[in-house]
Amino acid sequence: MMNETTIVATATGAGDHGIAIIRISGPLSLSILNRYVKRQKSQPQWKERYLYHGFFCDCSGEHIDEVMAVFFSGPHSFSGEDSAEIHCHGGRVIQRRILNILIEGGLKLAEPGEFTRRAFLNGRIDLTQAEAVADLIHARSEVSRRIAVNQLEGALFRQITSLAEKTADLLALIEAYVDFPEEEIDPLQAVHVVSASTSLFYELTKFIDSYEQGRILRNGASLLILGRPNVGKSSLMNLLVGEERSIVSEFPGTTRDTVEESITLSGLPFRIIDSAGIRESSDHVETLGVQRTFAKLGSSDLVLLVYDASVGFNSEDHEILQRCGDRPVLLIANKTDLQTINPSLPLDLPELRISCRLQTGLDLLPAKIQEILVDEEGSGGGDHALICDLRHKESLLRGREALVSFRRLVQDGSPIELAAYELRALLTALGEITGQTTTDDLLDRIFSRFCIGK
Ligand code: GDP
Repeated sequence: MMNETTIVATATGAGDHGIAIIRISGPLSLSILNRYVKRQKSQPQWKERYLYHGFFCDCSGEHIDEVMAVFFSGPHSFSGEDSAEIHCHGGRVIQRRILNILIEGGLKLAEPGEFTRRAFLNGRIDLTQAEAVADLIHARSEVSRRIAVNQLEGALFRQITSLAEKTADLLALIEAYVDFPEEEIDPLQAVHVVSASTSLFYELTKFIDSYEQGRILRNGASLLILGRPNVGKSSLMNLLVGEERSIVSEFPGTTRDTVEESITLSGLPFRIIDSAGIRESSDHVETLGVQRTFAKLGSSDLVLLVYDASVGFNSEDHEILQRCGDRPVLLIANKTDLQTINPSLPLDLPELRISCRLQTGLDLLPAKIQEILVDEEGSGGGDHALICDLRHKESLLRGREALVSFRRLVQDGSPIELAAYELRALLTALGEITGQTTTDDLLDRIFSRFCIGK
């Protein structure tokens, strides 16, 4: 599905840089190079994938910039179309001038992600790989980068394709009966249909359940720092964030509201929320802060419940712990530089002993958090893909619902066409993930989060 328009965009960042790359894709790529790039030795043809030195000239022949340029012939290019790159000097005046000349010459300024969208539409990559390109560009931690590369290399595509193949096999088996409605399914085959759909159900469920891990690994877990006033919550937050972000004071109740920051610990991204010191207060502002803190409980992945080790885990700390309900909790015993009191700790809760004043114990925090939140399998590497994207999870949920209906219809002895319809719905849901079944709206949504020039 080749596009008639030829698009152009600067692929490198805005502003003044040493070099900028102007990217072109579409049928005019070669003629544009011939028209505007004068190579030093006049050569008859542009050899593909060969970087030439020359000058970018406007229509009157004026030299605009000294450039390097390369031609890729389709379909063996990123977008699958004829394309080109012009590497010019990275000044904004030069970039703007070259872009204007190319647009006057008949090229269209590319939409965000349009090069990748064309690569997808031309079958160079599937939709999960296209999404991985954006994830890779936006990765803010080593782990999210690794997950995106894994997806770009096709790990998710292969897993979804394998599920789709199993579904298609099952469908073929069922469809053999559609033309002979009077025939009952052979009992042996019926057993096979039930067991194949059961294993498909478990595979889908395992995949769907990997979303919690995937989300945490890719987007980062949300950590909520809770504790009584003055136990060292803000000091902990400041140490983690690396600057005086929250106010530290001798007076209880200084952190009036919640403060939120993004940090990376041992290559994992986190969102960290420092809360108002929790206590019953007559101060209206502080009470509001406390309410907001507990409101954040539901959306946090892990509570860091800080207590004062020199006081011990007292009844107020117990009360806060109770309010955490079923949220995972890591106890942080702070102020271990002071004489500590042997706490009567709640059973079975992991604990980290630290001193914000001496800055000790914190180096173990990332490992402790990972121990609680990340399974051993959940490394996000190798061929084992995790579901990290809500879009993928929702398609899988829809697919699993269709599979459940299929099983019910088969068990009830309902008409085979109805059962086959549900299997086709599962195939459609899987196809939405890889992009085999998709709509323009969905593509618009996905590619709008790309940068221009990608
Ligand atoms: P918050 O109210 O829980 O946010 O507590 P802050 O971080 O404001 O700290 C309250 C007080 O405890 C301040 O005077 C800090 O300097 C002090 N503090 C914090 N961490 C430590 C620690 O590890 N050891 C000691 N001795 N004092 C600390």
